[in-house]
Amino acid sequence: MNKIKEYREQHKLSQEELARRLGIDRSSVAKWESGCNTPRLAHLLELAKIFRCSVDELAKGGDDMAISKSVNCPHCGRKLNSYTVDTASIQRTSGTCPSCGKRYTVEYGKGKIKVSKG
Ligand SMILES: [Zn+2]
Repeated sequence: MNKIKEYREQHKLSQEELARRLGIDRSSVAKWESGCNTPRLAHLLELAKIFRCSVDELAKGGDDMAISKSVNCPHCGRKLNSYTVDTASIQRTSGTCPSCGKRYTVEYGKGKIKVSKG
């Protein structure tokens, strides 16, 4: 359920603020985000309303569904590989763009991805 954290941060809400809106304890939000617990349907519906997304989109962040994001070459803009970003730590990999032959480095994890030259 790391999507909840992603959406919460996008909406610039703290765990406290989100919990208050849902009428629940902050620890419940923390448990959802750490994957210790999953929200009940009523809370999912409320979350979807707050984040203006669908329940499906929220549920995508579940443990069984890895989120992958693709990156574009920082030199020529060609689409490169997709990486699983639903990890607890940042991973780093580098490669050569098959299109322009230049080197790139990808850092991915914790729901984010960043590509840089070299
Ligand atoms: Zn390239």
